[in-house]
Amino acid sequence: MNDSNNASILPLLLVIDDDEFFQAQVKLFVEDTYAVTQSLSALPADAQSLLQADTIVLDLNMPGVDGVSFIKTIASLNPKPKLLIASGYDNSIIELARSAAELYGLTQTIVLQKPVSKDQLLEALVALEFSNARITDASAGQVSDNISSNDIIKGSQAGEFLLFYQPQISLKSETVVGIEALVRWDHPQLGRLSPAYFIHSLEDSAEAIEFTLMIADLAIQDTVQMTHKCGFMGKVSINVPPKVLLSESFTDRLCDMLRTRGLAPDRFQCEITERGLESQDPQVSATMARLRMKGIQLSIDDFGVGQSGLSKIKTRAFDEIKIDRSFISDLTSSLDSRSIVESIIHLASLVGMRVVAEGIEDNPTLLLTKRLGVANVQGYYCARPMPKDEFCSWMLNWPGCGKASKAVVG
Ligand code: C2E
Ligand code: MG
Ligand code: MG
Repeated sequence: MNDSNNASILPLLLVIDDDEFFQAQVKLFVEDTYAVTQSLSALPADAQSLLQADTIVLDLNMPGVDGVSFIKTIASLNPKPKLLIASGYDNSIIELARSAAELYGLTQTIVLQKPVSKDQLLEALVALEFSNARITDASAGQVSDNISSNDIIKGSQAGEFLLFYQPQISLKSETVVGIEALVRWDHPQLGRLSPAYFIHSLEDSAEAIEFTLMIADLAIQDTVQMTHKCGFMGKVSINVPPKVLLSESFTDRLCDMLRTRGLAPDRFQCEITERGLESQDPQVSATMARLRMKGIQLSIDDFGVGQSGLSKIKTRAFDEIKIDRSFISDLTSSLDSRSIVESIIHLASLVGMRVVAEGIEDNPTLLLTKRLGVANVQGYYCARPMPKDEFCSWMLNWPGCGKASKAVVG
């Protein structure tokens, strides 16, 4: 194949950097895998290259329009390219730029501090290729604006909701110790929707209680089936919006379901997000106490991004802490994330709470979480969320964390 044919099938990488040496280096490092175009300023002479770029490598410090200001322009492109921010600035500034990019909707963004070696660049580009575009609040918002909590209740009455299950693995025993139930909506017009598209419309509404109990019942039935079908003996977790804890009848109705379907309460766990738990309403604490008295476990989800975390550790209100994915995704590259994760593990060990890390996407992160003392992990590296039938065949073939790469599903 000649060069021009080759270039036309390679993904396009646009390097925006006023440093000609860096430009030349990048080209040399990646020319086997990318067709590289270059621009010495944030306003490329060839606007077409901006539109066509699969990936943009962006410097932050440039004359005229600087890289940070230009992130907004990149975010307005459709489709949005992947973004690699490479800069010589201090890590905290680069992280702020990353945060801005993500908030503007560039969900596939990665950062590197210059100088950059060939291996670092190639690794970062591979990570970008395999990173999944997350649904942003902004893009999901366009759909969810048109979805009311009433539509959700109608959908649930019509049986349009189903649950996917994502395994949780014990790093000590390398066995599957639990599953998290994650809702999906087979919407008759919009197709299969993940929760980002509709869960916000629901969580603050009065319908949240009925919806959560419907999810609980589905999860309990599926877990009983999985126990019989493939011998799954772990816990099932559901996500419970904090508002639901204001319901006086929630605990009793949940316990009735567990009894009727034949699932022991100690195999059931409620994950409650840290965000929204600031409420001082006594009913919230009363519900949490009653759930735990019945043997149901409580996990504090997305720990680290809310404001109530430390007080919840102090009151030992939870059995488990789930560290938010944002601290795990860059655990191996960000000293700040590592320090935060180490502190959470230390605090949790002092009060006897189990620590779970979610969002493990690669082996180095898995190994590091193990070294730092995390008990259980959940993430795409071990398995993606999957329907219950797929879970059973996945579990029966699970080779253990040491061979986790073989076990990645989907
Ligand atoms: P969550 O409870 O923190 O669940 C974990 C989310 O992270 C799931 O997204 C899961 O698919 C995703 N995830 C797991 N491992 C990885 C990984 O390695 N990399 C990446 N990038 N993502 C990973 P999902 O299923 O889209 O759910 C999003 C959120 O929606 C959940 O976050 C939870 O807050 C909410 N949610 C899901 N199901 C329910 C439900 O039944 N009821 C309520 N109220 N909320 C739900
Ligand atoms: Mg959760
Ligand atoms: Mg979470």
